[in-house]
Amino acid sequence: MTENIPEVRHLKSSSGISFSLNYIASQTHLEWYNKSEFPKKDCDFCQLVTPEKESIHSLLRTTMSLFPGHELLISPSHGDDYIGLYLRHMLDITDENAAAAIAFDGSKNVKLKNYHFNCHLLSDKNILPIIQDAGGSLYKEIIKQDNFSIGMLDVYGRNPIIVRSSSRDKVEDAFHEIEKLIGVSFSTSSHPYINLIIWKDGEDYVLAVIPRVVYKPTEYYAEDNSWDIAPGALEMGGFYLTSNHAEFVNLKVEQLMRINDEVSYSNTHIQELLQDFDLSKIS
Ligand SMILES: [Zn+2]
Repeated sequence: MTENIPEVRHLKSSSGISFSLNYIASQTHLEWYNKSEFPKKDCDFCQLVTPEKESIHSLLRTTMSLFPGHELLISPSHGDDYIGLYLRHMLDITDENAAAAIAFDGSKNVKLKNYHFNCHLLSDKNILPIIQDAGGSLYKEIIKQDNFSIGMLDVYGRNPIIVRSSSRDKVEDAFHEIEKLIGVSFSTSSHPYINLIIWKDGEDYVLAVIPRVVYKPTEYYAEDNSWDIAPGALEMGGFYLTSNHAEFVNLKVEQLMRINDEVSYSNTHIQELLQDFDLSKIS
């Protein structure tokens, strides 16, 4: 599988945000990455569900891999479960795999009963630039309580809400509160479009919630578009994937910043949201 080892460019914006741009020659593998969700009929994910597949906290290991160290995990069936249930599973997986991170691609406002849950398991969390950024000088704490904090990156571009606690319950409670602030609708069971990156830092679970304004940047829809990058969960973790070699070679960090900016909330918006965060809901 050596053909899948990506070529990598590490880039850093003048404001200090890190990016890793990865060229993967296999378009087939990237197609799997871009299959984010499907209705029940003719679902490609269902084809990956076989009885021999090993499960890991109710998710199946697919052996579908974009590159060494990546694996697609899927739910065995279509479910109408609240996304919080899967959050628990994802936290459990990182608990047992301290070196790993999980990236989840959001629910794009679909009804969850149509949704085939899938997420990305990365055996080495340090390949995700957001993890360096969240542990560095860009991190700004907004809310602090005993064994619980919420912060953000105090810089323009790629705006995660970073929740940290050694208590899984607190992380889950915080996620539900943040989802409400972003705009979950329980009546229509529509959920805001978010990306999640989950990892462990020592005893702490760290959850980066990245609210998304749109799925794709506007230039992606332009008639003369020659871009392949449509940011998903890994991209919002700073890990950009492309199978277009010209794009890989020529892409500038300013363009990555612009993609980020188009698809994510502004810092001001996130700060305003967090002003309404209800700490009494954290167990
Ligand atoms: Zn399916």
